[in-house]
Amino acid sequence: MRPIIPDYLIEVLEDMESDTSGAPTGYIPELAAADPERLGVAFATVEGEVYGAGDIDTEFTIQSISKPFVYAMALSDRGFDSVLARVGVEPSGEASNQISLERDTGPPLNPMINAGAITVHSLAGTADLEPSARVARVIGGLSTFASRPPTTDETVRASEMAHAHRDLAMAHMLRSHGILTEDAHAVVDGYTRHCSVLVTTRDLAIMAATPANRGTNPLPGEQVVPEPVVRQALSVMFNCGMYDAACDWATQVGIPVKSGVAGGLIGALPGQIGIAAFSPRLDAHGNSVELQGGIGFAGAESVQCNT
Ligand code: GLN
Repeated sequence: MRPIIPDYLIEVLEDMESDTSGAPTGYIPELAAADPERLGVAFATVEGEVYGAGDIDTEFTIQSISKPFVYAMALSDRGFDSVLARVGVEPSGEASNQISLERDTGPPLNPMINAGAITVHSLAGTADLEPSARVARVIGGLSTFASRPPTTDETVRASEMAHAHRDLAMAHMLRSHGILTEDAHAVVDGYTRHCSVLVTTRDLAIMAATPANRGTNPLPGEQVVPEPVVRQALSVMFNCGMYDAACDWATQVGIPVKSGVAGGLIGALPGQIGIAAFSPRLDAHGNSVELQGGIGFAGAESVQCNT
C-alpha cells in the first residue's frame, strides 16, 4: 500500500504556499538575498525512513538550529555540572540576540539565545583545544548528527562576522564576568563558523530524528549522544527554542523545536519522528512564518511564560 505521509506533506505545503508574509532576514546581509519562494518539509522516522515534499535538497546555513546540537556536544564533552554552571535553562522571553544574563551570577539564561550559544561553543570539546580544533569538533559533531560530510558557506560566514558587533560585545561581556575563559573574538569566530554549516531540509529531518530516537542517529544506527543529554537538550528546545515566541509555540504546537534565521525549523517527536521545514520568510521573532502556519501556529494569541 502507498504510504500516506508523502501526500500529507504535499498537502501541508499547499496550505502554506498562500502565506507570503514575512521576509528573509536583513541583519546578515548575505541572507537577505535568499529566495523567499523556497519551501520544503521533511519527516525522518526513528526507523530511518525519510519523506519530503518541496525544496528538500536546497542548501542553506544551519544558523541557530545548531544550538541544541552543540549544547548536546558540550554536555557530553564536559558533563552537566560544568555546562550548567555557565549557562542556565530558563526561557528569556527575549530575542535571539538579547543580552540576557542572570542578574547576580551573570550566566546567560539559556543556550538557545546567542549569549548562551556563544558560551556553549567554548564548552564543546576538551578545555585545552585550540580555537580551530574546537571548530572542527563542533562542525564534525553536526556532520555526525546529519550523516553527511560537513561543508560551510564561507560567504555567509564572512557576511555575519563582518556585522557581528553585538555578538562580539556579548562575548567580551561574558569574558569580563569570567563565564568565557577564552579569547572572546576567537569564540565568536568559531560560533559564526558553526552557524554557517550547510544543510538541507532532508539533513535537518535526520538531525532531528536523532534526539527523537534517544540520541541514536537512525541512519547508521549509531549512538551520537547519551540519553540524559538528549532529554536535557529537548527540554531546553521546548522552553526556549523559539525565543520570545517559545511559549506560544509550546501551547499551540507542543513539541521541542528550534528555528534558524536562514529559514530552517526542526521539531522532534520523541520515539516517532524528526520534522524539518524550510522557508526564508521570517516573522518579527526571526522564526519562519509559513512553517509555523503549516504546523498549526497561525492565529495563536500571545502568551508570556517568563513572568
Ligand atoms: N548566526 C546567527 C546569529 O548569531 C544565528 C541567529 C539565528 O539563527 N536565530 O545571529
